[in-house]
Amino acid sequence: MQVENLHPYDICVIGGGYMGAAVGLGLARAGAKAVILDKISMHQRASKANFGLVWSQSKGANNRPYARLSESAVRMFETFNSQIEAETGIQTELRLGKGLIICLGEEEFEAKTQLIHQMHQAAQADGEQHPSRMLDRKEVQDLVKGVTLGQRVMGASFSSIDGDVNPLGLLKAMRKSFLGNRGRFCHGVTVHAIKKMGQVYRLVTSQGTIEAPKIVLAAGLGNMALAQMLGTSLPLIPQKGQLLVTERVKPFLSFPCSGLRQTGNGSIMIGYTNENTGFDVTTTVREGATLAGRALATFPGLSRISVVRSWAGLRVLTDDGAPIYDEIDENAWAFATHSCITLAPVHERLLTPWILQGKKTVALNPFSLERFNV
Ligand SMILES: Cc1cc2nc3c(=O)[nH]c(=O)nc-3n(C[C@H](O)[C@H](O)[C@H](O)COP(=O)(O)OP(=O)(O)OC[C@H]3O[C@@H](n4cnc5c(N)ncnc54)[C@H](O)[C@@H]3O)c2cc1C
Repeated sequence: MQVENLHPYDICVIGGGYMGAAVGLGLARAGAKAVILDKISMHQRASKANFGLVWSQSKGANNRPYARLSESAVRMFETFNSQIEAETGIQTELRLGKGLIICLGEEEFEAKTQLIHQMHQAAQADGEQHPSRMLDRKEVQDLVKGVTLGQRVMGASFSSIDGDVNPLGLLKAMRKSFLGNRGRFCHGVTVHAIKKMGQVYRLVTSQGTIEAPKIVLAAGLGNMALAQMLGTSLPLIPQKGQLLVTERVKPFLSFPCSGLRQTGNGSIMIGYTNENTGFDVTTTVREGATLAGRALATFPGLSRISVVRSWAGLRVLTDDGAPIYDEIDENAWAFATHSCITLAPVHERLLTPWILQGKKTVALNPFSLERFNV
């Protein structure tokens, strides 16, 4: 697909994963002429390799602005999602209202109890409330009804606002909605160079050149190379996460647990590792066995179910685990974060006024690159 500037765009978004699709959608809905350029990548594809949680309960334990941002994203999700479903006719299997992080053994339970306590204290210090709490083993058993819990399950943290979504379904719907709002999506187009030419940015791509007065770098880990083209270093770290997927079984779990959820088609997703192995995306038997072991320790009844697939993806992380939202050059923004599924409503809603009208909401101020300049 050639991308030559047949008609000029207001904004070019580089990257069409969860970040680019959400930002592009916000821009297109606001009436901007937006184009998304998205290359095909083996490494920068977290948007197609994730777990699908819409999650606030463990986010921002030492970072109140991030905890607040995650919570507001989860609270915005229902409205965000229903508008997209209505526009596109795609059902995204969103479930909100229950989410658990199961604790195996005393030590995990103690550590999680302390963390949740800390999150409550941080919220109270700001005159706010944190929405998750701890459950003991009996309360977890009541929630999972007739399903037998493993001996080591001590309890769980619980949130009454968290949930999950079909992540591929929502991504497809966001892109379709972007197109329906007159956005242009160019699949298989790689940006190789960015040059500022007076008032416009000229992008040299695998399919020709394109110019726009404003650009958004939304390419996940690919943002590191793109930001370098504008003279900025982005401190992003790849972190591998492996998952297992089982065959389809009868419904037994109607809400997600972190690391274990039953999808709409009946298969069970079992995750996920946190491995600092650079840009490697191989799956390994050793890590797969650890994941399966944990799933069995939680629900021993899974022992006879077959694993049919496994994959690994790379998280887009920063040192402090919080997002980067910054204008790195005049009219050039760089956005990158973990948890882009959860944060999609915030990206669609809050980033657009900044790009189009220069109105940056204060909720985004703590996430500039400045914080890394020690
Ligand atoms: C195992 C795992 C589990 C996860 N689970 C969850 C979860 O449950 N909930 C949650 O909220 N988040 C989760 N995440 C995180 C979430 O998947 C990421 O935050 C999100 O996918 C990042 O989206 P992105 O668009 O920034 O990056 P990506 O998904 O990497 O997309 C970037 C896009 O930019 C393109 N690109 C790169 N360079 C260029 C270039 N030069 N030119 C053109 N295009 C380019 C790439 O090809 C790609 O399509 C998980 C991640 C992993 C790995």
